[in-house]
Amino acid sequence: MPPSDPLPTSPLRFALRYVWLFRGWCLAAFLFETGASTAGISIPYTLGRLTKGIAALRPDASATLALRGPMLAFAALSLADMVLSRSAGNCQFLTSPRLRQRVTNDLYAHLQGHSKRFFDASFAGALAHRVVETAAGVTQALWAIIFDFWPIAITLAVAVTLLSQSSPPLACFVGGWAFVFCTVSYVLAKSCQPYARKHAAARSVTSGKVVDSVSNMASVRLFARSLFERHYIDGYLEAEVAAARTSHRFTERIRWFQHVSSLILKVGTLWFSVRLWREGRIDVGTFVMSTSMALLVITEARNLGRRFMEFFEYVGNIENGVRTIVRAHEIADRGDATALVVTRGEIRLRDVTFGYRPDQPIFEGLSLTIRPRERVGLVGYSGSGKSTLVSLILRLYDPQSGQVTIDGVDVRSVTQDSLHEQVGLIPQDPTLFHRTLRENIRYGRLDATDASVRDAAARADADDFIAASPDGYDSLVGERGVQLSGGQRQRVAIARAFLKNPPILILDEATSSLDSVTEKALQASLEDLMSDKTVIVVAHRLSTIAHLDRIVVFDAGRVVEDGTHQDLVSRDGTYALLWSRQVDGLLPDHLPDELERTSLSESA
Ligand code: ATP
Ligand code: MG
Repeated sequence: MPPSDPLPTSPLRFALRYVWLFRGWCLAAFLFETGASTAGISIPYTLGRLTKGIAALRPDASATLALRGPMLAFAALSLADMVLSRSAGNCQFLTSPRLRQRVTNDLYAHLQGHSKRFFDASFAGALAHRVVETAAGVTQALWAIIFDFWPIAITLAVAVTLLSQSSPPLACFVGGWAFVFCTVSYVLAKSCQPYARKHAAARSVTSGKVVDSVSNMASVRLFARSLFERHYIDGYLEAEVAAARTSHRFTERIRWFQHVSSLILKVGTLWFSVRLWREGRIDVGTFVMSTSMALLVITEARNLGRRFMEFFEYVGNIENGVRTIVRAHEIADRGDATALVVTRGEIRLRDVTFGYRPDQPIFEGLSLTIRPRERVGLVGYSGSGKSTLVSLILRLYDPQSGQVTIDGVDVRSVTQDSLHEQVGLIPQDPTLFHRTLRENIRYGRLDATDASVRDAAARADADDFIAASPDGYDSLVGERGVQLSGGQRQRVAIARAFLKNPPILILDEATSSLDSVTEKALQASLEDLMSDKTVIVVAHRLSTIAHLDRIVVFDAGRVVEDGTHQDLVSRDGTYALLWSRQVDGLLPDHLPDELERTSLSESA
């Protein structure tokens, strides 16, 4: 479900949206930090006044009284610095987790609305990483401005103002230094950015390669390629080392610049102050104030170059995340979409043209009607478009032209949630959540009781293997369900369908991983599940569908035969040939030559 208002597609406006949402906290942190920095950099001023007093007074009891003012000011400013900066810190820690939560939730909600095509073309891990990095980027960039850049600006402004009151030339010196320092830091950081990016890219390539290698560990072992893999990964590590060296060489430049400019400010202020004092243009108080201010400015502005670099990285992360995730959804509910209510269960494709790429159509002008409560078997060679047809009914893709309707309603005019509530799919290779078996089955109906879950499992013939699992219904199934066999996963998926019990049901090779004996055992339950529903069954094993009301034979995106099993067998066409050629109930791998010729001459 998309968030209530659409997410901005520009990275800046995206970040500002969250600053605005948390404006109270951000403003508080900002004000506290302003106060803290002003107090901090004003301390040297009181030091200056203290020094002036000490130089003029004789060390007796009256001196303490005379110095009370600047001493109190010194203490008060130090206290204010501490309290205000801790208050700002509190605002930060109270806001940060909520801010991240908000960004993550919004991005994840937007991500959910993307099409199957989007997810097929992306890596799940990379998307998850983007969501997390973007959320972190927004908070870090915000805090970098409030806690890094803003205090530096305040410190420099206050320092120059205070100095200009007692010595304009010194103020000019510090001001000029600050201008050059900030500009050069920015320029250097900017010039380092491409190298830092290359380094980051090299790091993520290496980690991607390691992940790919780890997930294919079975192949690595079975082909005895451990050494090969280590060399393969080491090649990428070498590239990473080279990128790291270049990047570090450039960051080192920034460090040198920083150290040299700190030195110039320290020594320069000292030398300049001594000269001004000698010429009688400043007093000893101003001397102490200017030199200790220079030291404070250096402490504050130290690492400005590195902070710029980090800031660019955060901004880059936000840009990346927004560019990848916050795009328009390919398949979105229309503004006036209604909830689909299946009353009869008629599915109709009218003149549908569709290709995953428009220039390579799989269906051209395909029309097909599945009558209410009809149970239809779809047969065809691998790649003939059966699963694609199913995807169009589920509106996982929109056809380039033509229409898919359910009970006369275009699937594009109803909400996708209502469509998927009422059209259930049991896929060939169902993936499960790494949650317990109970949770996986209950996914079909979230309010199902434990008893219903057990009943559904029993009807899907899954109760025996679940009972034999170490923790029964509480057993975890491994990532995507890898700890179950293909047939066990299919039975969990069937159990889910029993709970969901939708009026339209599609089985795409849903029992293909079951042996014929188990499939037979399941048959009665499946009949039960299919009763009173519109059902489409895609199967290579013809015995699975022979008893259905109607069989539709597909070839290269066209319906080549349509009728009951008896009709088609007696017709002596494609289906009859497939039926007679079934080896052990399965289709042969290739179209026999004579059939290829008949189907070509038919289509001509
Ligand atoms: P099978 O019996 O092997 O499951 P099928 O009849 O279900 O085959 P489809 O999956 O519909 O075949 O595929 C039809 C064609 O579309 C194939 O040529 C396939 O390569 C292509 N295809 C399938 N999915 C995609 C996709 N996500 N992107 C691009 N092309 C695809
Ligand atoms: Mg398929």
